[in-house]
Amino acid sequence: MGFIDDVVVNAKSAAEIVGKTAGKIVDVSKLKINSAEVNADIKEEFEALGRYVYENARVFHSDDVEMAAKMARIDVLKEQASSIQKELLDKQNKTSCPSCGKMSPVGVSFCSVCGTKLDTKDVAEAAPQEQPKTEEKPAEEKAAEDTNSTEE
Ligand SMILES: [Zn+2]
Repeated sequence: MGFIDDVVVNAKSAAEIVGKTAGKIVDVSKLKINSAEVNADIKEEFEALGRYVYENARVFHSDDVEMAAKMARIDVLKEQASSIQKELLDKQNKTSCPSCGKMSPVGVSFCSVCGTKLDTKDVAEAAPQEQPKTEEKPAEEKAAEDTNSTEE
């Protein structure tokens, strides 16, 4: 009886020790995860705030030079992103749904997700043809021509 009790007690305390150590490890890694999660949430909220200001409160901050510069930078990056995306889609022979963004192979007429009609005209436009460059005349020359024609 005594022996079994001892074993049980030993097993118990061993389990307790392991449990405590594991608990510490779990606590630390839990806290680390919590910290990372909360920080990620903060980052997300900052991003959401930035997006909100960018999209909705732009007018109210139009006199804020730094903010205007940051927004202009976002504008440029957004344009870059969309042109890269377009190029990528062209290379992959895919087109994205204007409504839901789902990618479909070029030539498909309707989005498989939302049923939006896909612009198949883009297929022809996807291969850019070299346009003969028309020389823009400087404004002065144009103005001179204009005055010449009115003199007649
Ligand atoms: Zn769609």
